[in-house]
Amino acid sequence: MSITVVGSIAYDSVKTPFGSRERMLGGAATHFALAASFFDRVHVVGQVGEDFAERDLAVLATRGTDITDVRRVPGGETFFWAGEYGWDLNTRETLETRLGVFADFRPELSPAARASEVLFLANIQPSLQREVLEQCAPKFVALDSMNLWIETAHEELVEVISKVDCVILNDAELRELTRRPNLIAAARELLALGPTMVVAKQGEYGAALIAGESFFSLPAYPLEQVIDPTGAGDTFAGGLLGYLARHLSRVGEEAIRRQAMAYGTALASFNVEGFGTERMVGLTPGEIHRRVDTLRRASSFDAPALDLTLAS
Ligand code: AMP
Repeated sequence: MSITVVGSIAYDSVKTPFGSRERMLGGAATHFALAASFFDRVHVVGQVGEDFAERDLAVLATRGTDITDVRRVPGGETFFWAGEYGWDLNTRETLETRLGVFADFRPELSPAARASEVLFLANIQPSLQREVLEQCAPKFVALDSMNLWIETAHEELVEVISKVDCVILNDAELRELTRRPNLIAAARELLALGPTMVVAKQGEYGAALIAGESFFSLPAYPLEQVIDPTGAGDTFAGGLLGYLARHLSRVGEEAIRRQAMAYGTALASFNVEGFGTERMVGLTPGEIHRRVDTLRRASSFDAPALDLTLAS
């Protein structure tokens, strides 16, 4: 069993109210792999430039992740993203994006990457997401996207959404994509296109899962200090898909989907405790299990019958 992720591998410069870092390892595929590698073997498909450091390749390969599909382009520059967060860590400003070798990225999957049962199409051009899908036949596919593609490649995005099992977007993206202000209505519209699950990421407020007639909402892990939210969404996706990959014959079960949401949430909480990949590299399974259990206790309650008719 294995999981393939196709997406950006980047150098990020990030400023938050708690500090800043220049050119640290980032990218959607990187954050995803560092989380999913706790559950299954991960194949990363991406492209980097000549400037990409060997030590960063080693970080990407943490927990046995296969990096043979990471192509180094001679003379090229690695995708670069710079962003800044204010006191509201749910919103960020992109200061600079330099596509570098990402501009002519045409993903080509090796036989091992094609054979994965689970595929994550991280945030890349929808036409490339479709090309990746045409190269393989995974049992479960999830997709992420962003406002840029919603605005510039709406039709292609809707088409590729109709071919996947799970859509993972943030609230604002779901609303923009469907032009529906109501989150449930927006998710239902996407479910009608073909996917069986829609996950709405809600930053520090958690995430919601809409599947069939069911709805499940989980708060974020109650952290006292968030240092850098960059990559939280992809780390969440790595935990969610990792858990689903380990329970592939049961992904249709509501209980399994809820547990996957809890693992995604717990993993994302570690990612935001440090800059970039700092916290995820040395993370241990015990730390993850403890947070999942805390989340379970924090979000469940009894509902004993209570007579509410006293006034009548
Ligand atoms: P997240 O915070 O989960 O949205 O992921 C942030 C990561 O996405 C950063 O590490 C960036 O390098 C990467 N990123 C930012 N902009 C783009 C883009 N236009 N395409 C692909 N990846 C991006």
